[in-house]
Amino acid sequence: VSTIGILTSGGDAPGMNAAIRAVTRTALGYGLKVKGIRRGFNGLLEEDIVDLDGRNVSDIIQRGGTILYTARCKEFTTEEGQNRGAEVCRKHNIDGLVVIGGDGSFRGAGKLAERGINTVGIPGTIDLDIACTEYTIGFDTAVNTAMEAIDKVRDTSTSHERCSIIEVMGRHAGFIALWCGIANGAEDILIAERYDYNEQSIIDNIIRRKESGKKHHIIVNAEGVGDSYEMAKRIEEATDIETRATIIGHIQRGGSPTCRDRVYASTMGAYAVDLLYKGASRRVVAHKDGKFVDFDIQEALSMEKDIDQYLYDLSRRLSR
Ligand code: ATP
Repeated sequence: VSTIGILTSGGDAPGMNAAIRAVTRTALGYGLKVKGIRRGFNGLLEEDIVDLDGRNVSDIIQRGGTILYTARCKEFTTEEGQNRGAEVCRKHNIDGLVVIGGDGSFRGAGKLAERGINTVGIPGTIDLDIACTEYTIGFDTAVNTAMEAIDKVRDTSTSHERCSIIEVMGRHAGFIALWCGIANGAEDILIAERYDYNEQSIIDNIIRRKESGKKHHIIVNAEGVGDSYEMAKRIEEATDIETRATIIGHIQRGGSPTCRDRVYASTMGAYAVDLLYKGASRRVVAHKDGKFVDFDIQEALSMEKDIDQYLYDLSRRLSR
């Protein structure tokens, strides 16, 4: 390889900048050129491409978001778009490409690999919903942000002896809700993977726990399970206990990355460039069983992931 391109795609996540910095500096260390492609595959098609040197990536390791911006790009899901993407890479001498994003972004990277551009994906999403890896860039920061927010809601919930429904992110994956459920000692965790939509049993539990002396009742709700505000109204009506819903929202996506996100994102960035330097292509960097490893993109995309049953059961056992 002579020139490494790098882009961020899909939803942004804290730690992406640490990965961009690591990719850039590792590549420069090998004597390669580095080009930043802005706004994901959109920027590739529009040739929104900037040279990156060691200084361009100064002072970003501690920042959330992505200095390269991110976007979704419909056109890139078509063959014409993918052909054009490969052409643009060739025009700009990009013969190694690092794509930071989720499964959709990896599919796009795979299409470029089929067209002769060496590509490596790095898992970046706060939702942790990438099957091949136990770590994704941004989850650690997001789950810590959500945990702190829930602590704050809990204080006032206890003072007022209320029931609180707190909605966290994770439309299709309940990892943030599960981890917060345990970390915040929530009474209930509603995640798409396990929730049976039996609201009556939640209501019965709230009443029973109140009778046994509990001062608050925290329900962590993964977005997508249902409307938290409506649920709060129904629960208040059925229990006669004041019930409030709080949606944490995009606060979870931003902010300065945690130490773990900075270190792991840096490691994955360097690992991705090491792979490209060795001539590898169509790979995804992952963290599994305590080690950084890599998989073929297609193999990675065919894997499936479920939430950890032990952790889920633990959250139930500890919520009495
Ligand atoms: P997140 O989980 O944060 O949403 P993601 O990478 O899964 O991240 P997507 O919106 O699914 O997010 O994908 C990002 C971009 O990747 C899309 O806008 C599109 O440009 C490209 N992409 C997605 N699927 C494909 C595909 N099948 N072929 C080619 N490109 C794709």
